[in-house]
Amino acid sequence: MITEPIGSIPRPASLLQAITGFHAGTISQQSLDDAYAAALRDTIQRFEQTGSPVITDGEQTKSSFATYPLAGLTNLAPDGVVISFADGHTRQLPRLTAGPFRYGQHAGAFVTAARTYTKRPLKQAVISASALSLLYPGSGIPGYSREQFTADLIDEAASDIRGALDAGADSVQIDFTEGRLSLKLDPSGSLLRSFIDLNNQVLDRFSIAERQRIGVHVCPGGDHDFTHSADIDYAGLLPDLFHLSVGRFFLQMASEPDRKRILAIVKKVMAPTHIVFIGVIDPISPVIETPSQVRDRILEAASVLPPARLGSTDDCGFSPFADDTSTARDTAFSKIRARVEGTALAARELGL
Ligand SMILES: [Zn+2]
Repeated sequence: MITEPIGSIPRPASLLQAITGFHAGTISQQSLDDAYAAALRDTIQRFEQTGSPVITDGEQTKSSFATYPLAGLTNLAPDGVVISFADGHTRQLPRLTAGPFRYGQHAGAFVTAARTYTKRPLKQAVISASALSLLYPGSGIPGYSREQFTADLIDEAASDIRGALDAGADSVQIDFTEGRLSLKLDPSGSLLRSFIDLNNQVLDRFSIAERQRIGVHVCPGGDHDFTHSADIDYAGLLPDLFHLSVGRFFLQMASEPDRKRILAIVKKVMAPTHIVFIGVIDPISPVIETPSQVRDRILEAASVLPPARLGSTDDCGFSPFADDTSTARDTAFSKIRARVEGTALAARELGL
């Protein structure tokens, strides 16, 4: 049975200090780059030690899962869309101030950098076009229409995925955390369907075989141990979500209160060609799951979904934003180890 991480690992304190120091002007670009390289090397080493058959770069050099394409851009203002989390804290996206919209950084570079440290299959996460569509202000941009922006965005999001595949990523995962959130902003579901339509325009650029190597991750968000949309019923998201033209679905599940009900909906909406990865680790909970707990969660899912189309994953990344230190690195790696061991136990039980 396949098991894969979502993406992010908490950054080491030495890297966070270097980032702060660089912004304060007390350390050089070279020292910052050295700190990034050291964090990347250590993360990949520790990832390999968990026994994980597929690893990521831990997103050590991303500012966040959503904002890495904005690195170095000068056509942004800080006052964009605000996302609120359950404890009241917020994250604010920038606002695009002028066209054309081009990514400052593409995901293929992360694959290339990680490849220098490992031979294991590498999975690469990318941000969805729908998340970045929120950069365009409701009031418009003179001389750069929303239509022009959307066309540029589709080009850039497609080349982000293409570049990661070309750089040798085993698979690419589109982070679509705003899927569930969109139902909070628009309970009618039309915002959700417009997001899915936009992302499918990106996916249209890929062959059916390529789309089998592309997946989507959904969750209720996770930052400083709080979610943004866990209060929105998963049942509202899943039927539309499975209209995305991808082969793999990475679904938060460990933290769902009524998993049986959600699994039954997944069974109804998934296609025979889909692979569904069920979250068996809750990155927000400080308690490290045991392998037998993981095994039981997989067996529960396998009692509803076809075991041959089932994989396991974490509910979310462990630190989607670089400055989120709410989870210790040791905890994250221990949880990943439990997932790997528990998945092997489940596979044995299922005769896979
Ligand atoms: Zn997530």
